[in-house]
Amino acid sequence: MGEEVYDLCVIGAGMFGSAAARHASANPSIKVCMIGPAEPTADELPKREIFGAHYDEGRITRILDEAPACQVLSQHSISRYRELERLSGIRFYEPVGCLFTGPKNKSFIQECLSSGSVHKVPLVEMPGNGETFKSRYPYLELQSGEIALLDDSGAGHISPRSLVAAQKKVARLQGCHIIESVVCGTETTSNGIHVVKTETKGEIKAKRLLVATGGFINKKNLDVLKPLLVKCYKETVVLLHLPEDEVQRLRSMPSMISIRETSEEEIGAYILPPVKYPDGKYYLKFGKSHNPCGGDELKTLEELRQWYLSDGDKEMEKTHVKFVSELIPGLKYIGMKKHTCATCKTPSGLPYIDRVTPTVTVAVAGNGKGAKFSDEVGRIAAHLCLAGKWDSEVSQGLFEAVFQ
Ligand SMILES: Cc1cc2nc3c(=O)[nH]c(=O)nc-3n(C[C@H](O)[C@H](O)[C@H](O)COP(=O)(O)OP(=O)(O)OC[C@H]3O[C@@H](n4cnc5c(N)ncnc54)[C@H](O)[C@@H]3O)c2cc1C
Repeated sequence: MGEEVYDLCVIGAGMFGSAAARHASANPSIKVCMIGPAEPTADELPKREIFGAHYDEGRITRILDEAPACQVLSQHSISRYRELERLSGIRFYEPVGCLFTGPKNKSFIQECLSSGSVHKVPLVEMPGNGETFKSRYPYLELQSGEIALLDDSGAGHISPRSLVAAQKKVARLQGCHIIESVVCGTETTSNGIHVVKTETKGEIKAKRLLVATGGFINKKNLDVLKPLLVKCYKETVVLLHLPEDEVQRLRSMPSMISIRETSEEEIGAYILPPVKYPDGKYYLKFGKSHNPCGGDELKTLEELRQWYLSDGDKEMEKTHVKFVSELIPGLKYIGMKKHTCATCKTPSGLPYIDRVTPTVTVAVAGNGKGAKFSDEVGRIAAHLCLAGKWDSEVSQGLFEAVFQ
C-alpha cells in the first residue's frame, strides 16, 4: 500500500461500514479505503475467526419500530434504496409490505399501534377472521382474537448480501479502495496518523478511522478504542426449502412478525416470504422475533467463532416450525436447514454512532434490526467522522457510545 495516507479508513465492510464508505467516497476530494474480509466460501469457513451478520438473502425492512429514532433512520434509508439499486445495477429491495399479527388486546399489537401513530406510519388494521384478511391472504390463518396490521409504505424485505454488494460497488466506482483483510491492531503516530495493521495486506495509514465491525467490535485489540458496552447474542434462522407450487401459492406473502399466546407461553417469529437463494432454490426463512437473552450471550471471540460454525438452536426445529406451520396451514416444504448468526445489542436498543476522539468514530450495534436502516447509519457516521457534525433530525445524544 506504499506511503499513501487515506483521509478516511473504514474498518469493517459490513452493512454499516459499506454504507459509510459509499457516502464518504461520494466526495471526490476525500481519499477513502475500507478494510474487511469478504464473505467466506464454504471451504474457508472452518479457518475463519471473523464473520458478518449480512451473509443472507432476507432481512425485513419496515418503518414501524418501537423506537421512534429507528423509524426516522429507516424512513431515510428506505427512501434511498431505489437510487442505490440504480447506481449499482444490483437489486436488493422488495417492497412487499410487512404484516404484524397477534392478539388484539396484548402489548405487541398495542405497541405497534402506538409506535405507528408517533410517525404516522399508515397501518391497515384487519381482524384475522374478517373478509379482507381472508381474501388478501388466503394461505394465512389467525386464531380468534388475533388481528393483523399491514405496514405497506415501503416495508418488505431486502437482501443484506446484495445491499452490501451494491454499497461496495458504488463506493469502489467513486474511488474507495476496498482491502479484503482483517484488522488486527492500530497504532497512532506522534503526528496523529493512524497506522492500521491488517492480517494479510500490511499496514494502512489514515487520518481518520471509522470503526464498524459489528458483533466483533470488542474482539480485536484496537488501541484507538476502549471496549464498548455491548452484548452479542446467538441467533438461529430456519430455512424451509419450498417446492415450486408452494412458492406460487405464497407469492403474495408479505414479510411478517407474529406473536401468539398459548396457555403456557408466548411464542413469536419473524418470517420472510419465499426468497431465492444463491443455490437457485426458494426458501421460507424465519427466526425468533424476540430472544429472551439470558444464556444466549456470546462473550469471547472463540465462542462467537464456534457459534457461527455450529448448527444453531435445536429447539427451533420443533417450536418454531410448528408455530409457522399453524400460521400457514398446509405449508409444504421439501427440506430444512439452519443458519447461525449473532446480533450486537446496546442497553438503549439504539446503535452507537459517535465520534469517540477527534479522529475516531464508531458505528456499531444494529440491535438485531440494523440492516434496514444501515444506509442512514453509515451516512450519519461518515459525515460525523469527516465534518465533525451531526447531520440528522434524530437527537445525537441518543446514539452516544457507552464504554465498559
Ligand atoms: C439472524 C439475523 C436476522 C436479522 N434480521 C434482521 C431483519 O429482519 N431486519 C433488519 O433490519 N436487521 C436484521 N438483522 C440485523 C442486521 O443484520 C444487523 O443489524 C446488521 O448486519 C449490522 O450491521 P453491522 O455493519 O453493524 O455488522 P455486520 O453486518 O456484521 O458487519 C460487520 C463487518 O465487520 C467485519 N469485521 C469484524 N471485525 C473486523 C476486523 N477486525 N477487521 C476487519 N473487518 C472486521 C465483519 O467481517 C463484517 O463484515 C438480523 C441479524 C441476524 C443475525
